[in-house]
Amino acid sequence: MPIYEYVCKGCGENFEVLVFGEKKIKCPKCSSEEISKKLSSFSMKGVQKGNSGCSSCKASSCSSCK
Ligand SMILES: [Zn+2]
Repeated sequence: MPIYEYVCKGCGENFEVLVFGEKKIKCPKCSSEEISKKLSSFSMKGVQKGNSGCSSCKASSCSSCK
């Protein structure tokens, strides 16, 4: 699951959000939608963004591939 880090442009709050689809992200502190995404160290390491799936079978979901 991709975790993204955001910074609020309003109050400067740093926070992390689990992203599902294209949901609107708001600052948990001041509810502003004026936020900018940072590159998370989590997603840099293991998780590839988008439809990475499984590296050996290329499926978008590799529950059948062990
Ligand atoms: Zn804020």
